[in-house]
Amino acid sequence: MQQAKILISACLLGDPVRYDAKSKPIKSSIIQTWIRENRLIKACPETLGGLATPRPAAEINNDIIVTTRSGVNLSHEFRLGADATLSVCLEHNISIAILAESSPSCGSSFIYDGSFQKKKIKGEGITTQLLRQHGILAFSQFELEDAQATLLALTSR
Ligand code: SF4
Repeated sequence: MQQAKILISACLLGDPVRYDAKSKPIKSSIIQTWIRENRLIKACPETLGGLATPRPAAEINNDIIVTTRSGVNLSHEFRLGADATLSVCLEHNISIAILAESSPSCGSSFIYDGSFQKKKIKGEGITTQLLRQHGILAFSQFELEDAQATLLALTSR
C-alpha cells in the first residue's frame, strides 16, 4: 500500500513565506518522525495563489472577503491558492493536513476578525474551508497528537 502523505503549511516547516517573510517552525518529535518517514508535503496557499513575500497582512471579513488593512480585496488570490493546495492534496491522495492556526488561509479553529485589531474569533481560513469541503481532515500545529492518532486509525484499516 502507498504510504499516506500529510499536507503541512510550508511556514510550519521553516519556509519564510509568511506575510512578514518570516516562518513559524514547530519543534515536535511527531513532525521529526514524519520528516524521517518522508510523509510531509508542504504548501503555502498564499504564495501558490500568486501573492508576493513579504505582502500586506490580510484578514477575512464576514466569512468570505479577504482584504488588506487598506481595503485591497485579495479574495481571488486566496481562492486560487486554496484551489492549488487542494490540487496538491488530490495529487498525493492526502487526507490529513496540518495547517498554521489563525491564518486567513490556513486557520482551522481561529482566524482574525477582519478589524486588524489583533482580535481572534472562531473560524477557518479560505484553504481550510475548501480542504474540509473535500473531506480532508485539518488540524493545527497544536493538535499534532490528534493528527497522529487519526493517521494511525486511517492507515491501520
Ligand atoms: Fe503559512 Fe499558510 Fe500563511 Fe502560507 S498561507 S504563510 S503556509 S499560514
